[in-house]
Amino acid sequence: MRTIDHVISGYSGGGGARSHDVFDPNTGQVQAKVGLGGQAELDAAVKAAQKVQPEWAATNPQRRARVMFKFKELVEANKDELARLLSSEHGKVIDDAHGDVQRGLEVIEYACGIPQVLKGEYTQGAGPGIDVYSMRQPLGIGAGITPFNFPAMIPMWMFGMAIACGNAFILKPSERDPSVPVRLAELFVEAGAPEGLLQVVHGDKEMVDAILDHEAISAVSFVGSSDIAHYVYKRGVAAGKRVQAMGGAKNHGIIMPDADLDQAVNDLIGAAYGSAGERCMALPVVVPVGEDTAERLREKLIPAIDSLRVGVSTDKDAQYGPMVTAEQKGRVENWIQKGVDEGAELVVDGRGFKLQGHEDGFFVGPSLFDHVTTDMESYKEEIFGPVLQIVRAKDFEEAVRLPSDHQYGNGVAIFTRNGHAAREFAQRVNVGMVGVNVPIPVPVSYHSFGGWKRSAFGDTNQYGTEGLKFWTKVKTVTQRWPDGSATGENAFVIPTMG
Ligand code: NAD
Repeated sequence: MRTIDHVISGYSGGGGARSHDVFDPNTGQVQAKVGLGGQAELDAAVKAAQKVQPEWAATNPQRRARVMFKFKELVEANKDELARLLSSEHGKVIDDAHGDVQRGLEVIEYACGIPQVLKGEYTQGAGPGIDVYSMRQPLGIGAGITPFNFPAMIPMWMFGMAIACGNAFILKPSERDPSVPVRLAELFVEAGAPEGLLQVVHGDKEMVDAILDHEAISAVSFVGSSDIAHYVYKRGVAAGKRVQAMGGAKNHGIIMPDADLDQAVNDLIGAAYGSAGERCMALPVVVPVGEDTAERLREKLIPAIDSLRVGVSTDKDAQYGPMVTAEQKGRVENWIQKGVDEGAELVVDGRGFKLQGHEDGFFVGPSLFDHVTTDMESYKEEIFGPVLQIVRAKDFEEAVRLPSDHQYGNGVAIFTRNGHAAREFAQRVNVGMVGVNVPIPVPVSYHSFGGWKRSAFGDTNQYGTEGLKFWTKVKTVTQRWPDGSATGENAFVIPTMG
């Protein structure tokens, strides 16, 4: 049985007292074991980070960027291997796994420009003979706690920015698919980074708590489900850390009567069922505006769903693969039953799906609900599976209200040909990321990613200039160089620039 080890510089203490099974979701078999560490492993990682971080922070940003450039090259050279590894533990199809790597790499590309974006601000002559300048300095040691659903992209969102800014970084990836983060850390050393700068500690709640309480860790970035995000936020902040904690989602796709329906259905199917719905920017709720739109949409959705191919993650023709674990599959099937019990119409039932030759794989077929209403638990909560819910809205106002009133506020999309309606929607909707005829509006790496309401705790987004702010602190210097000619000011009065 393969074991997946921590990446801790100079540590030979083994995996930890406990271990966790890593499955091949295509077959349902255990393919590896990952050790679950705790305080001892974290202390060792912190010690190693403390050894290298000051020198890294003192390395000029151009040299730091060169490591990022090299790392980018190495990830590109190894992208097939990374995508295969990712797919074998997560279950997403290979093309989608490539996308996972690529979207993370785009943040590394942004980090390659760190000398430019880290330049501070300067004001000459802010007062008589006085200049003011500010600089952004690293925090020291940062940590990241990441979910299972993007095991390449989300770690790179975090460590790309943190390390380029001059910090050391300790990553605690999901215990369900930990191999890709380990491989990324190995490639980072190959790229010329000192050992200890990027380390990986495996674990569960015990390790997370150790991170949140550790005095030497200055900042924690978390992505995962909302209850845990809230917990991480509160505990980390109480320990005096800077914390950003992204949570769950229930993204709505609004279909206006004038939308290009064929295009919208094509986009919706990909966004609802791609990656088996295990994306925080999936579109699991569709809101047709008006009864006529709802009927036309439903008529087109059913055959599109029927023609979906669910297969093993290495099947080139499959649109999506298995769920990550049997537990996740069970959760999704329970939500489908809940929707039925609450009175929604189950138009397509994906439960009991069996793939020939892979009967023990964690597959769930695509499901579609119609006549879902806002009082249903299955609408209020995140399902995180291949389940699309139709919530019919009578008009535009109701369509704006639905995502705005929902507890989550990660992403939303509107499909329309009417620029005015799209503009109004984007202005008014109470959600952090908006797509206009774009189903999965994950912002590019030089903007930033973050939801609102229970989709994010803390006040800075991931990557881009927001990431830069999160991983640095500002120092502002006010200076003058007197030439001896100053007349005596009253030193007891608060100085002003008069
Ligand atoms: P999760 O909350 O179960 O796990 C996330 C991390 O928290 C993992 O590293 C895990 O080991 C750790 N963890 C688990 N239980 C814990 C506990 N009790 N105490 C402390 N830490 C704990 O999330 P997941 O199932 O891995 O990922 C799916 C969730 O992540 C979904 O809710 C999805 O919407 C969300 N997500 C959000 C974003 C975003 O940017 N908003 C992006 C991707 C995923």
